[in-house]
Amino acid sequence: MATSYRLVCTGCGKEAGYSSFRCSYCASILEVKFDYDTLVLPKDFKKSASEHYKYLPFFPIERFRIRSREGGTPITMQKALGKNIMFKLETENPTHSFKDRGSVVEVNRAIELKAGAVCCASTGNMGISVAHYARIAGIKCTIFLSHDANADKVAKIKRNGARIIKVKGDFNKALGSAEAFARKTGAFVCGDYHYRKEGQKSVIFELIEQLHYNVPDFIFVPVGNATLLSAMYKGLMEFRRFSLIGRFPRLVAVQSERCDPLVRAYNSGTKVKYAKPRTIADAIAVGFPTFGFEGIRALRSTKGIGLSVTEQEIKNAVTELDSLGIKAESGGAAGFAGFRKAYGDKKSLFQNKKIVVLVTGNNESIAKISL
Ligand SMILES: [Zn+2]
Repeated sequence: MATSYRLVCTGCGKEAGYSSFRCSYCASILEVKFDYDTLVLPKDFKKSASEHYKYLPFFPIERFRIRSREGGTPITMQKALGKNIMFKLETENPTHSFKDRGSVVEVNRAIELKAGAVCCASTGNMGISVAHYARIAGIKCTIFLSHDANADKVAKIKRNGARIIKVKGDFNKALGSAEAFARKTGAFVCGDYHYRKEGQKSVIFELIEQLHYNVPDFIFVPVGNATLLSAMYKGLMEFRRFSLIGRFPRLVAVQSERCDPLVRAYNSGTKVKYAKPRTIADAIAVGFPTFGFEGIRALRSTKGIGLSVTEQEIKNAVTELDSLGIKAESGGAAGFAGFRKAYGDKKSLFQNKKIVVLVTGNNESIAKISL
């Protein structure tokens, strides 16, 4: 039996219909509020193999009507800066980014709600991922991109049969266009909204299970819209609620200093303000993070750290990962750039600590990152 839930506005607290993508009263984003009394974990939950589908009780869908081979991504232990670091390779998902965990939940939800079409605003990776699942589901797909979207990513979206609409402006402009398109056509909006966030929780579920429920001390996460960051926090809360873990890791949010609205807000104790994206790391080039408020709460509640890295530090991280045999695009390597910077600043903080770095995407050729 699927777990019961309601959609509730994060701004005014009013309840919303299941097809909504924002609150119709105050336009804030929505949240899935599970009735945890109806969430039943199988008796062998801890013993069964860690894969995306076993977390169904934590997802807002009845079952998986379509799937690819998302999740179950490997962790590789490598020596970097003389320390053993665990890299979780989200690049091993079907479309080479962590987005697939959210897309599979979203598109299954679109099928349940009998949507005939989906649309999505993207900087690239989410567009590839949503187009991939829409193709499997046989649903029409329209992707909104900024006019200067990465050519490698545009080609991959096209190969998945989606229609592409380019808008003059950045990601937030594309987001407005996608939402307007949905209001006009009735298409189901995929992207950084409540259903996707639930699917992204499996990164942290899986990671903790792979470490045999030994919670790491630090997890470095690249941040754009902060959906992954806030999903990880929600996943941690849920695992703790069901007594699967007793403590939290410290989450470390990493952004480019040329687009770091969340890190700035967290470190200065102010509200998130729009910052014009000017970074090569297009996967995290988001001027106003949709889940900014939730992302900051995730950092506060886990004694987290906010870090900005330079463009050169991101490029260096791509090269260093490559030398370790790990392929990553610039945004996907930002977490590692953050670790290198934090470790350089204060080695003692990481002494005898278990450190995980998420490598979140690999959809641009390394040759295009001018090293
Ligand atoms: Zn509201």
